Amino acid sequence: MDEGRHGELRAMLEELLTKFRTDTRDKVRRARPQDGDRRIGATDDDPPEDLERGVILATAQVASEMASAVGQALARLEEGAYGFCCDCDDDISPARLRALPFAVRCTDCERIREQGKEWERRETPTSLFLQ
Ligand SMILES: [Zn+2]
Repeated sequence: MDEGRHGELRAMLEELLTKFRTDTRDKVRRARPQDGDRRIGATDDDPPEDLERGVILATAQVASEMASAVGQALARLEEGAYGFCCDCDDDISPARLRALPFAVRCTDCERIREQGKEWERRETPTSLFLQ
């Protein structure tokens, strides 16, 4: 990878990292008005309801996962490993990198990982018999 491309990627990833980190912090703060200082000078509406708070926290979680993915991509860029899957070392397809510049896994490995997460999220096995 040439210097120019490297610098471009780094600048873009750093910008994304800042964005996702700010996003996470803002959302967490919004979801927890009681222990923040947001009311000072705040002009927005009432504190969110529980349901809304849950939704905000879920999006904060996503933003924080994105931030950590971008952080990993940056580290890999510095190591010269950017563009290769961190699980199987295969090339990540250019189309995937264009769509997700901070992808650290190829499509196949990402799918396997997502399935693993889905599995963890499931409730106790007994729920399978109660449906
Ligand atoms: Zn892979």
